[in-house]
Amino acid sequence: MRKFNKGFTLVEIMIVVAIIAILAAIAIPNFIAYRNESQGNACVGNMATIKTAAETYLTKHPGTAPTADNLVNSDGTGLLKTMPKCPKSGGDYTISLTADGAIEVTCATHNADGSEASSGSSTPEP
Ligand SMILES: [Zn+2]
Repeated sequence: MRKFNKGFTLVEIMIVVAIIAILAAIAIPNFIAYRNESQGNACVGNMATIKTAAETYLTKHPGTAPTADNLVNSDGTGLLKTMPKCPKSGGDYTISLTADGAIEVTCATHNADGSEASSGSSTPEP
């Protein structure tokens, strides 16, 4: 009676593992880049939402920079239902009134275009 050795040899398993490692080495950096890009785009959207609400507040209360508490009212009467957080860092946004009376919303992690702010400086380059 002939004996069958079913299963994979060590070399076959090593080849499969090597192929999986190569595919992962290609896919993971792309995945991280796409995730960072989408988080930046979501942050830009959050800043636009907050800016719109802050400008609405500003028309009712001229000259007063709104705080997060001014914009959010959990009973549904506020301008925002909840205050968005930065999708990357989970940090809060800073709402400020510029000298010419415009609202400026900034994120500590992202620039206004959604790119990541360089570490050590939270103010975007002009
Ligand atoms: Zn952000």
